Amino acid sequence: MKIAVIGTGYVGLVTGTCLAETGNDVICVDINQQKVEMLRNGESPIYEPGLQTLLHRNIAEGRLNFTSNLAEAVKEAAVIFLALPTPPGGDGSADLSYVLGASRDIALITSSYKVIVTKSTVPVGTADKVKAMFEQYSDIQVAVVSNPEFLREGVAIEDFMKPDRIVIGTTDDRAKKILTELYTPYVRQGNPIIFMDERSSELTKYAANSFLATKISFMNEVANLCEKVGANVDMVRLGIGADERIGKRFLFSGIGYGGSCFPKDVQALAKSAQENEYDFKILNSVMEVNALQKTVLVDKIKKYYDGELSGKTFALWGLAFKPETDDIREAPALEIIEALLQHGANVVAYDPEAMANVKDLLGDKVAFADNQYDALRGADALLILTEWSVFRNPDFVKVGALLKSKVIFDGRNLFGLEQMVEHGFYYNSVGRKAIS
Ligand code: NAD
Repeated sequence: MKIAVIGTGYVGLVTGTCLAETGNDVICVDINQQKVEMLRNGESPIYEPGLQTLLHRNIAEGRLNFTSNLAEAVKEAAVIFLALPTPPGGDGSADLSYVLGASRDIALITSSYKVIVTKSTVPVGTADKVKAMFEQYSDIQVAVVSNPEFLREGVAIEDFMKPDRIVIGTTDDRAKKILTELYTPYVRQGNPIIFMDERSSELTKYAANSFLATKISFMNEVANLCEKVGANVDMVRLGIGADERIGKRFLFSGIGYGGSCFPKDVQALAKSAQENEYDFKILNSVMEVNALQKTVLVDKIKKYYDGELSGKTFALWGLAFKPETDDIREAPALEIIEALLQHGANVVAYDPEAMANVKDLLGDKVAFADNQYDALRGADALLILTEWSVFRNPDFVKVGALLKSKVIFDGRNLFGLEQMVEHGFYYNSVGRKAIS
């Protein structure tokens, strides 16, 4: 099938590459010329495990092409995916200018029936707005479909190739048939393709992300209470997660959710509810709890040093908002860095993939280390901000020897409490008693 994907970010590039992998003829469009050049040379502008291999293979076999010329991509495509940004607008609602702008541009150059698929996360009613664009700027009949993307950065290829479910919002039978054909190779194990109307599909994505964010904020509150009552959040997590109605996954407490999706999607759903005269109370609490949770580690650090952080040096392990990605959008680490710098502290950071992005953002406000141990040299304490696997089992003797004092603030609960007692560290984590 001939496919065009508009936008080659985390979603668009993975979508285009994985669609080429099952034999489709895919052309990806981006307005960022530099990205297009890199991709044409087989270089991925983002870090995503497994992507580079698939990219090379499909480019080499001629199934995956890149261009900045929209008309070239749209001309022959049967299906056009919109994988464009939907950042928060000034009032918290999703900014639809990229999606609607591209829809208008496509409408102006479309000369035959196409299936227009919105992969971007968009508020309820966007499919109607996209349809209206086509009606205004084109005489050609198209199907406008909502097909939200549920992939997780870090395991995006796996998620796309074997999704838990595919949600398709459309009432157009021709589009249903085309998309069933396109997606069947990805659901061979029997996971469902769930068809519904466009509005339900659009809301499904926001409800999914908001529910997951709620789980995180809930567990962060449980963790904060654990610290007050002398309980251990990791035990509580295991205790509740064994109940199948609750489930084991997504129950980890930490330093607040980040990334390009949860913060903006929870905010956009709350805004959308408000616009429809519904006060979605839980979402407001989820956001409030998350904002506070991003401050808990620095509060603990301030308490430990009696408020005197000036001149202290902190080694940071982890910058990305989660492991296995270079994405730092809304990463809790950024807020923690800002707070430490404001208090006159110095920061030396190490992250396996995200340092270049932080450097672009913060320049030389932060020093970067070549590896996780170099970051520790002469630092007053180690802060763990992202749960990369490589941080899970370090050489504690080396860690203790390189640090000025054996002090760890762990925002991800990577280490066992007994282990920390054994190695003689002051160890302060989330929702567990501090070890001194
Ligand atoms: P991104 O910022 O990584 O990528 C967007 C790309 O679109 C950029 O490369 C940009 O240059 C390009 N672009 C902007 N305007 C364009 C235009 N007019 N024509 C062509 N290209 C254009 O964004 P992303 O993370 O891939 O997210 C895209 C959408 O998918 C958002 O709505 C997001 O909420 C949603 N989503 C993201 C994830 C995720 O994990 N990142 C997961 C599910 C859904």
